Amino acid sequence: MEEILAFESKPSPDYPSSPKVIGSYVQAFLICPRQVWLMSRQICPDEDHELLQIGRLIQSQSYARERKEVHIEHLALDLVRRAGKNFVVAEVKKSSRAAEAARMQLAFYLYELKQMGLEAEGELLFPEERRKEYLVLTPELEAKIVKMKEDIVQIIARPIPPAPARTRFCGKCAYAEFCWA
Ligand code: SF4
Repeated sequence: MEEILAFESKPSPDYPSSPKVIGSYVQAFLICPRQVWLMSRQICPDEDHELLQIGRLIQSQSYARERKEVHIEHLALDLVRRAGKNFVVAEVKKSSRAAEAARMQLAFYLYELKQMGLEAEGELLFPEERRKEYLVLTPELEAKIVKMKEDIVQIIARPIPPAPARTRFCGKCAYAEFCWA
């Protein structure tokens, strides 16, 4: 399987030597580095996977009155609103099962916005759990993001993906059939 992947996913000549890190890679990195590599090669997970469908539904139905899906350069932000003088960027998640990964994804957005000269605060929203967390970018979080971006670029640069390794996330992962069939 790995040899087939390496063959099928050979980067095209215009594949960037230093690819852009995006929010979904950050979240995937903290769940499973193999996911990052598969996503980077546009290897799509099972689009009919029940959890992907539920996730889309929640994103489309929650917070309908707020502005949704704002694209700024390589960032796709779930919600953006003004709170006084500040911008608040919110990330919507189906559950808090991978809350740490979601926190780092949001911290990544705040970091990237800061690099563009935009200061913002973060909110992590779990509508099904009626839960909200606030996030502020600290120097410690910034240092973690910088290191994580370097690690992600190294994973993407590999000719073959990291081997599958069973974790508690595999059971609900849309790539499960791909990894374990
Ligand atoms: S099924 Fe498991 S090993 Fe495969 S991509 Fe998903 S989390 Fe990673």
